[in-house]
Amino acid sequence: MTSAPPLSRDEARALVTADLDTLLLEAGRARQRRFGNRVHLCAITNARSGSCSEDCAFCAQSAHSRAASPAHAMRAADELVRDAREADRQCVSCFGMVTSGRAAVTGDERARLLDALRTARGSMRACVSASIGALDDGIIAALKDAGITRIHHNLETSRRFFPRICTTHSYDERLDTVRRALAAGLDVCCGGLFGMGEEWDDRIDLAFELRGLGIRSVPVNFLNPVAGTHLAAQPLLDPREALRIIAVFRLILPDAHISVAGGRQVVLRDLQSWIFHAGASGMMIGNYLTTAGRNVDDDLAMLADLGLEPEGK
Ligand code: SF4
Repeated sequence: MTSAPPLSRDEARALVTADLDTLLLEAGRARQRRFGNRVHLCAITNARSGSCSEDCAFCAQSAHSRAASPAHAMRAADELVRDAREADRQCVSCFGMVTSGRAAVTGDERARLLDALRTARGSMRACVSASIGALDDGIIAALKDAGITRIHHNLETSRRFFPRICTTHSYDERLDTVRRALAAGLDVCCGGLFGMGEEWDDRIDLAFELRGLGIRSVPVNFLNPVAGTHLAAQPLLDPREALRIIAVFRLILPDAHISVAGGRQVVLRDLQSWIFHAGASGMMIGNYLTTAGRNVDDDLAMLADLGLEPEGK
């Protein structure tokens, strides 16, 4: 069977005003054709939290925010490995260790993190990934040496909108890390955050940027405005608009995993199970970095009710 030609920008823009029911049907079928009834689950742990020098407007871990978010140095390696093994038991396909900060940790903290990544990788079925800020070739080599084959680094939004949400580093710096990791042969999980006040053109630009980079795993996050952050007063996305975002990404990126991550519960509410009909092929389970997630058993029961199965099972 020949695959459909890639969507053009004009075709993608037309989806923004297309009838939602028809769009969801098309996107859900595209997911089903590509991934059947298998879904990609992932989970994360916050290895080092808060006190970040950067001013990302959405982030409770930024030192520029007044959010009452937990701050702690790098946790002990055995705690991180315990979190990873727990997620492995919950059938995730990928588990991420995440650190706050602009660039990868250094010194003792780096050694502890690499130890945790190496130990987790060597003792579980799921892929282990690192989400540790901007990467240079040295830390990429160290990650590969620890057996890590995947990193996570979001672009967050379009090049045009990025300066509205962050002024302490540039879009090009984010792209540099993504390109560097890809060039080193790592898988890169790279997506964005929606509901920050961006326009549809920004969302579509991001999707095309990801397609141009050849990204195969795209986390879709929805803003859950946290008190004390610069975006605290931003209204929640309408759940139907969130579903449209998922569907548009599915159709622009037909072969990529589209995984719904942060903000799922607060934005989609009773429509959470619809994400798969909208074309999502995965979701994050468990807690997020600074906010609580849904009960994992409830999420697994939702998948069973939908006739879907974790690919890590
Ligand atoms: S998103 Fe990352 S870089 Fe930006 S403030 Fe938060 S922890 Fe720092």
